[in-house]
Amino acid sequence: MAEIVPVDVAETTVSDVESEVNNAEAKVDVEVEKESEAEKVVADETQQVHEKEGEVDRLSAHNQSLGFLWEWNRAPSIPMELDERQRLELFLQSVSLEDNNDGWVWFNGRENDFSVASVKRWMRGSNNEAVTFGFKWSKWVPTKCNIFMWRAYLDRLPTKTALIKRRIMIENNICDWCESNEETIEHILTGCAFSMGVWTAITTWCKVPRSFVIHVKDLVEMQDYSGVSGNKKEVLHGVIIITCWRLWRARNDKVFSNKMPNVTDLVADIKSLGFLWYKYRFKQGIVDWDGWISFDVM
Ligand SMILES: [Zn+2]
Repeated sequence: MAEIVPVDVAETTVSDVESEVNNAEAKVDVEVEKESEAEKVVADETQQVHEKEGEVDRLSAHNQSLGFLWEWNRAPSIPMELDERQRLELFLQSVSLEDNNDGWVWFNGRENDFSVASVKRWMRGSNNEAVTFGFKWSKWVPTKCNIFMWRAYLDRLPTKTALIKRRIMIENNICDWCESNEETIEHILTGCAFSMGVWTAITTWCKVPRSFVIHVKDLVEMQDYSGVSGNKKEVLHGVIIITCWRLWRARNDKVFSNKMPNVTDLVADIKSLGFLWYKYRFKQGIVDWDGWISFDVM
């Protein structure tokens, strides 16, 4: 009997995934052991920071506007560094300075309430900003894909249009795939003819209607309006995230390496990666390759 296995796995093999899972489990054990130790270290370091004197202030307040007093060994110069500095400055614009002593407060507003466990709870749970606004993490795709989708959802990805908004000098803001539209995250993930071709193949495979998708929000909610339920909904949610993550990687390949993608290869890659991740990372992920390619995942 011939066994059908995915032949075109771009970067991950079964043994990679197995060892990734084993490593992750081992790490969780070690992390739990070290948790209280880590909490103590954080508390000690916080104390040390408080006790240090003579530090240089990097922020100053004049007439309620913030000034930045950078002291660089080497000033940021490449686009990535400039982008990070711009993002930091934008982020800090909402900060207001007072004359009191500085202190650390975990963002639920209570002092001495920080712990590694509370960060984990926040990352998994209902206090998460993205969860509050409707983005749900997939249980079976790798963290890098969930984080990518979260950043896309919050429009925090360095598309050309986003870079220009942050006043970073780039040649133009035109999509490298179609060379005719503004490159926004919506365009890359939904609006470009190339991504539309990918979505047509993915929705056909998953046997769901080709929804009217304009915003990233429509993508992260697509499984809720696709008429599927139970495990299939869980799978579809992950497949949507993997597709978006893979589209962004293909976009980077074109922008940085001038590699033009094609729909067939990209969809094959999404199916293969999805199969491996679902099968090896999810305890309910019982499926064989035949079932997967016909989206028979009940
Ligand atoms: Zn385009």
